[in-house]
Amino acid sequence: MAKIDAQCKADLHIHTTFSDSTLSPEDVVYNAKNKGIFCIAITDHDTVDAIKPAQDIAEKEGIELIPGVELTADLNGIEAHILGYFIDPTIPWFQEMLLKLRIARKRRFLKMLEKLQEFGIKLEVDSLLSEDKNRSLGRLHLARELKKKGYVKSIPEAFERYLGEDKPCYVKKEALSIKQAITMIKQIGGISVLAHPFLLGNDDLIINFIKEGLDGIEVYHPEQNSILSRHYLEFAYKHNLVITGGSDCHGEGKAKVLIGTVKITYDLVLQLKKYRNVTAT
Ligand code: AMP
Ligand code: ZN
Ligand code: FE
Ligand code: FE
Repeated sequence: MAKIDAQCKADLHIHTTFSDSTLSPEDVVYNAKNKGIFCIAITDHDTVDAIKPAQDIAEKEGIELIPGVELTADLNGIEAHILGYFIDPTIPWFQEMLLKLRIARKRRFLKMLEKLQEFGIKLEVDSLLSEDKNRSLGRLHLARELKKKGYVKSIPEAFERYLGEDKPCYVKKEALSIKQAITMIKQIGGISVLAHPFLLGNDDLIINFIKEGLDGIEVYHPEQNSILSRHYLEFAYKHNLVITGGSDCHGEGKAKVLIGTVKITYDLVLQLKKYRNVTAT
């Protein structure tokens, strides 16, 4: 592995084809390397299956890989995404829990397909359903198919017309409670971080999450402008939270490949590791 120092670039929020990105674990590692990023975290929705293949390539390419996950949590109807870092992806009970969440995602996916059919929309999803039975299915898969078949011109249009939370083909996901998500990440040796806090838009809720054991917040995210980042940075300092950041890259699933658009420096990773060593005892 190349020598990593505090100024090296890192990206701690990346998806793969095991959930709803168009990039395979291998693609992710090569993309990161091409963009000069030396440390990445794979944080797929409700699956850790990309970690092993990504780890194998990362080792060969001299990239440090942090095992992660992104869990959906629900708080009285409000959705929050909790990232887990430095988790142990091999723990059987955790894998079983993730499998249950993916089965629930598949049921929801089929319900959304039915709703789309009511609008006269027929999508070919057999390959999505059969190629990899363990895939973590979501709205981005449907949005991409809608675009491919010409029902919409863009991914955002798919959400605006059909899949957005207040749109006719949306079906709510089964989700863990905030406490369950945070506790589970802790039980598998991880650090819990609230992803893209601006989407929650309510700092009082974050204070409740801290009471449930939340360790950190994502300060740097492509959809969080510099004013918001500054705000969450100050919030993190005030509440003693660890700070993370990443591109939330979904490959071409979100119009363009985002790896490299949000780069944090490796000193934040060092702080995460230090925090982990202190709290793990
Ligand atoms: P799901 O987990 O199935 O509810 O899908 C959530 C995914 O859809 C996340 O990756 C979101 O970033 C993405 N998403 C949600 N709303 C939009 C939107 N308006 N445009 C593009 N992507 C979106
Ligand atoms: Zn996603
Ligand atoms: Fe998210
Ligand atoms: Fe994400």
